[in-house]
Amino acid sequence: MKKLKAHQVHSVPQWSFLLSAPHERALPPADVPEFAFMGRSNVGKSSLMNALMHASSLARVSKRPGCTQALNFYHSDAKVRLVDLPGMGYAKVPAGIQRQWHRMLPFYLTKRPNLVHTYLLIDGRHEPQRIDHTALDFLRHRRCPFSVIITKIDAIPARVLDQRLEVLGTLCPHNDLFAVSARKNTGIDAVRYHISAHSTPDN
Ligand code: GDP
Repeated sequence: MKKLKAHQVHSVPQWSFLLSAPHERALPPADVPEFAFMGRSNVGKSSLMNALMHASSLARVSKRPGCTQALNFYHSDAKVRLVDLPGMGYAKVPAGIQRQWHRMLPFYLTKRPNLVHTYLLIDGRHEPQRIDHTALDFLRHRRCPFSVIITKIDAIPARVLDQRLEVLGTLCPHNDLFAVSARKNTGIDAVRYHISAHSTPDN
């Protein structure tokens, strides 16, 4: 078997599920840069996070009962965390948990000292929906550093993608826009690069 050199062994970070935090007291220590992913249910968030982590099903953890309304943290040996913010507008959740969640999400997005960047995922197959606009307004008004990721671009023609880019570019002209397909592995490296470029203390 071919022997790997030391730098090759560590070139692909290894990811693991860290914990699921249903409330503020369960958050892990704020000692590692965090990158959060949000978007409405079915937007393709688990698929994208798995693609970013080179994992086939790690982010499915968030779909287990009990984890759907908690922040799910994934940790890499490169000392970066990805944070799955569960589906916005998830209908099948009891009212009490919804209320808790509505406190937790703004708290995390605005008060977490080690949250470096948030990615808002928008399904490329549709015009931005009302819930997408609500999330965009929140991130803008609270001055959260964020980018928009258009998902499932393999499912739309290039001219529709151009329209989406134009609409979103107008809605948030100062934010980076990404376009990805987890299914075809398109655009994933650009997001990965963005994360690694913002995870060093110099940024
Ligand atoms: P989540 O609910 O946001 O975590 O979304 P999932 O990652 O579970 O994906 C929801 C659905 O969209 C599933 O049926 C996926 O197969 C599909 N999906 C996810 N990513 C893509 C993609 O890049 N292209 C296409 N065409 N479908 C996708």
